[in-house]
Amino acid sequence: MELKPFEKKVWLATPKMHGDELRYMTEAYEQNWMSTVGQNINEVEKLAAEYAGCAHTVALSSGTASLHMAVKLAGEKLYGMPKVNEGTLQGHRVFCSDMTFAATVNPAVYEGAEIVFIDTERDTWNMDPAALEQAFCLYPEVKLVILVHLYGTPAKYDEIKAICEKHGALIIEDAAESFGATYKGKQTGTLGDYSAISFNGNKIITGSSGGMFLTDCKNDADKVRKWSTQSREAAAWYQHEEIGYNYRMSNVIAGVVRGQMPYLDEHIACKKAIYERYQEGFKDLPVQMNPYIEGEMEPNYWLSCMLINEEAMCRQVRGEQDALYISEPGKTCPTEILETLAKYNVEGRPIWKPMHMQPIYRTNPFVTAQGSGRAVTNAYIAGGCEDVGMDIFNRGLCLPSDINMTAEQQDVIIEIVRKCFQA
Ligand SMILES: *Cc1c(COP(=O)(O)O)cnc(C)c1O
Repeated sequence: MELKPFEKKVWLATPKMHGDELRYMTEAYEQNWMSTVGQNINEVEKLAAEYAGCAHTVALSSGTASLHMAVKLAGEKLYGMPKVNEGTLQGHRVFCSDMTFAATVNPAVYEGAEIVFIDTERDTWNMDPAALEQAFCLYPEVKLVILVHLYGTPAKYDEIKAICEKHGALIIEDAAESFGATYKGKQTGTLGDYSAISFNGNKIITGSSGGMFLTDCKNDADKVRKWSTQSREAAAWYQHEEIGYNYRMSNVIAGVVRGQMPYLDEHIACKKAIYERYQEGFKDLPVQMNPYIEGEMEPNYWLSCMLINEEAMCRQVRGEQDALYISEPGKTCPTEILETLAKYNVEGRPIWKPMHMQPIYRTNPFVTAQGSGRAVTNAYIAGGCEDVGMDIFNRGLCLPSDINMTAEQQDVIIEIVRKCFQA
């Protein structure tokens, strides 16, 4: 196959509109509901609750805002109402998935928590139950766990839930990337004590921005509604007893989400076809796709990723801002593949860099299946113990998973990646 750069860039993940989005946005405009109240918001909350199978939803300005509200609810339930100038989790330790996007963890930090990062397992690339067990040995006082379903693949929820129950800990579920994915037949976003999804522009369906808090508890939903509209009390004037936020979703944005909701299943089917096409195209290469447990979970296949086998890795060194590698026949590395894709006008991305490796969280505790990961990390660098998140970051990458990508384009991309492994 003769390879030449694409004229039009192939992206990692972009929105796909279907027409109704514009109709609902226009409706909001024509009826002058250009606000954070209106029919689109009501409908979106209803549609999402029906789809996910939960009793209550609150449409918010982002997934991050939804997680922030979840953190506040958990904090108040565990430790009571905070002082006005203090976070809800002030001075308390919280366990959090380590290999994730920063928005999973930041809201707990807004609320004053000290985060302990929990290492990743290899079966789903999510929180390792064995590492979580170790963390409770080291920090038995912890009462809150923040769990992500990375790239649309559900975490090992039952194992994690059992450990949390043993220690009386609550779970916040970050389903920002996994809307529509199921675990043992249940929708992600309805598993946790508190759950959040996102409608950011790159997610499985989008409002251009936006997010949602999901719950079966009416009281929690009411609280989130109140907090997200500046915590107004039921008085004729602006009356405030607690801190508030301007976190509600706009009725215009809600029009976009409303138009997307009926296409969620179609998007998932499309993403699954992309994943399977890569799987087939790479089946004789020394790589594996981002894994899931068949029969137990059905991902939404939001991003297709690959992991290069150790023996097929050429040398790669990453600094804080840039990366170097030494090309070797028959071997490659994420940096070489990403640079090659870029040459052909294709966007890939490194695996989300684990939080314990981020400069901002470098002094936070990190726990692996073997115990304190800070000691382990140094041993790993010396060639010893397991730091699974670091290993997946070193050997993995996110492949272009755009639902606007054609099968023909994907075949070319597969060929480009295959070339990187050639002698
Ligand atoms: C996108 C994302 C979020 C945040 O959602 P926003 O709507 O962008 O605020 C949180 N967690 C994860 C894992 C995400 O991918």
